[in-house]
Amino acid sequence: MPLTKASKIWANGKMIDWDDAKIHVLAHVVNYGSSIFEGIRCYHTSKGPAVFRLGEHVERLFDSSKIYRIEIPFSRAQVCDAILELVRVNKLDACYIRPIVLRGYGDIGVNPFPSPIDVFIACYPWGKYLGEEALEKGVDVCVSSWARMAPNTFPAMAKAGANYMNSQLIKMEALVNGYSEGIALTTEGNVSEGSGENIFLVRQGVVYTPPVGSSILPGITRASVIQLCREAEIPVIERVLPREMLYIADEVFFAGTAVEITPVRTIDRITIGVGKRGPITEKIQKMFFGAVTGNTLDSRNWLTLVGQPTVVSA
Ligand code: PMP
Repeated sequence: MPLTKASKIWANGKMIDWDDAKIHVLAHVVNYGSSIFEGIRCYHTSKGPAVFRLGEHVERLFDSSKIYRIEIPFSRAQVCDAILELVRVNKLDACYIRPIVLRGYGDIGVNPFPSPIDVFIACYPWGKYLGEEALEKGVDVCVSSWARMAPNTFPAMAKAGANYMNSQLIKMEALVNGYSEGIALTTEGNVSEGSGENIFLVRQGVVYTPPVGSSILPGITRASVIQLCREAEIPVIERVLPREMLYIADEVFFAGTAVEITPVRTIDRITIGVGKRGPITEKIQKMFFGAVTGNTLDSRNWLTLVGQPTVVSA
């Protein structure tokens, strides 16, 4: 999906023009992948734009940084304020928000400590990740021949740029073989997650998802789905899942900021359930979209109003 420019990007505390948000080719991050980032959605609601689970995303940004010994030179509150200000300044009503913390230009050795820490936040209009139709009909996916990183290689709980080299291998393999996404297993062969989203399956009325120990990113959408299941009194279990549980599931769906809640209709050309969105997936999807669009009362405090008008731009 081609990127649609916004007007401003927040760079180390200042608003700069979109086209000026550049870094040097010898910045540490360019050579060694030393960045951590977030992906957040701002939804159009009747009360104006609202950011979904802002506090949780910013908390994960700080968690990722801590794992990589990166000190963000701003507080959590400053980052939250910067995000809201940026959406206001760009006058966007619905958008994707991308905070990035990176090791910048200054020293070129592998040792990251001498390189400066730069913080950028971008936002831009963005539609449905796997297509509008996917939300209803479901997607055709495969199990990847690439495993997710083993626990003692890269920390999966950190949302680090370098992890996405693994994601790219999973995604490319899926695409060139005619699938829209790949599901990665752990190095032990159990279910982990998609290239950029968590996975859930439903069998005999119970919802299952792999635990954090299965080399997953602890998704904020995943946490939301677990909460919604509990509210709806649908049993939900975090458990190590063998690959074959995918094939014999009644329903499978992805959960993530980009894919939102997207049903899976086939895996490795095996039809999942009846080959279309199942009733539990539909129920969770409905609850989720009710929550993010503010159409249901935000009793969970998941939305932070940006405070600005209302023309839909994404
Ligand atoms: N796993 C991976 C590898 C991801 O990139 C993402 C997207 N951030 C997720 C899971 C889902 O996380 P979230 O729901 O917080 O977007």
